Amino acid sequence: MGNLFSLQGKTALVTGASRGLGQGMSVGLAEAGAEVIGVGTRDLSDTQAKVESAGGKFHQIIKDLSKQGAAAELAAEAIKVTGRIDILLNNAGIIRRSNLEEFSDEDWYQVIDVNQHAVFQLSREIGKHMLENGAGKIINIASMLSFQGGLKVPAYTASKHAVAGLTKSFANEWSSKGINVNAIAPGYMATDNTAPIRENPERNEFITSRIPQGRWGTPDDLKGAAVFLASDAAAYVNGQVLCVDGGWMSS
Ligand code: NAP
Repeated sequence: MGNLFSLQGKTALVTGASRGLGQGMSVGLAEAGAEVIGVGTRDLSDTQAKVESAGGKFHQIIKDLSKQGAAAELAAEAIKVTGRIDILLNNAGIIRRSNLEEFSDEDWYQVIDVNQHAVFQLSREIGKHMLENGAGKIINIASMLSFQGGLKVPAYTASKHAVAGLTKSFANEWSSKGINVNAIAPGYMATDNTAPIRENPERNEFITSRIPQGRWGTPDDLKGAAVFLASDAAAYVNGQVLCVDGGWMSS
């Protein structure tokens, strides 16, 4: 059974690997045997150290995925680094919070560019390479706001609904060609992304009390789902959005 989940000999491209969930999943993929190319807008040596201390191999590419054309550049550079990409983990994401009536166009476009356009473009570009190989795993990071509306985060909610839609659309076209496309929808996880909510005692208490498991998630909580969807164990899993949320969606 162990071999079914092994990523030995596989290469994973992980966006947003500098910290938070992307860092945790990079370490998880490395622990399962994958060589990791991590992407962020700045130095990723903290993740490099963590992956290497888990016995893994790590390369970093600095790329701002909000920029036009960045995803295509990244795909070409990443393929050059290892010669082959087996796993694409589209994790990079940002959030902007403001009252709906004051939500600016600038914030709208920033969020949509990173959370939605880059996911589409990078999946398309790395997907072409996977189609040539006849194999690949694409894992997108969705959200509870792929299902719910949230508060004060319209661009984030729209982009995460889009991530769920893209997951199904890509899966429909590529499942028969050896590529599995799925998503993970994390619940409320303790990272920089959610720091402002956790710093608000009322909101923190409200959210924590609604999580059946009674605690916020951590980057380590996503390791298992990422390894599963990246591995042969998920060979017949396509177009799914897997909630890893301490039970939030059931409560
Ligand atoms: P985080 O701690 O804020 O980390 C975000 C990551 O994305 C960082 O590595 C960041 O790199 C990278 N990134 C941001 N903008 C980028 C850009 N323009 N180009 C390239 N990389 C960029 O957030 P997180 O909580 O780990 O979130 C990771 C993913 O999970 C996001 O898609 C988020 O929407 C999703 N998610 C989070 C939660 C949660 O509760 N935390 C719940 C559901 C879904 P730099 O360090 O270089 O800025």
